[in-house]
Amino acid sequence: RNWCDVEDLIGVALAQVKEFQQHRQIRVKLPDEVPLLVGDEVLLEQMLVNVVSNAIKYSSDSSVIDIVVRTSGDRLILTVTDRGVGLEEKEYDRIFDKFYRAKSSKNVTGTGLGLAICRGIAELHGGSISASPNEPQGTVITIALPLPTREDSNPDIIES
Ligand code: ATP
Ligand code: MG
Repeated sequence: RNWCDVEDLIGVALAQVKEFQQHRQIRVKLPDEVPLLVGDEVLLEQMLVNVVSNAIKYSSDSSVIDIVVRTSGDRLILTVTDRGVGLEEKEYDRIFDKFYRAKSSKNVTGTGLGLAICRGIAELHGGSISASPNEPQGTVITIALPLPTREDSNPDIIES
């Protein structure tokens, strides 16, 4: 566990994804002051790669994908929004189950493990990951992670 720059995490993750999808329009919106996180950068990158590759896999080549980072209270909120095939109401929770694959994606290959791993990574960092519909079309994946506390930047104060 160490300090991770969110902009770098997104950059490294996109570089890994873009190798096979260069034509895709991915927009990234960051806050003026990009927050740091305390965590395992390799795992956090893996989580982003999984979520962004899903956004690509389950939407058409020409559609836009938005990655937006903001802070809310003591959380960093990162959303990945696509305009793809979307999901049925009852599936928004189930897609995080191991091996679950939605009806809308039967013609795309996958093992159904990516999001189960992502949920494990988010929870390992004290955070959460969830899915919701994007209006009028597609899916929003929301990742919430705790922002560093004063104890993180100054380990000594835990003692006192
Ligand atoms: P892999 O293990 O290779 O990632 P996968 O993509 O099928 O395989 P998950 O990433 O766990 O598995 O996703 C589970 C299921 O959730 C997918 O099969 C798909 O049906 C659905 N899903 C995930 N992301 C999206 C998305 N952005 N839009 C629509 N459906 C999605
Ligand atoms: Mg996947």
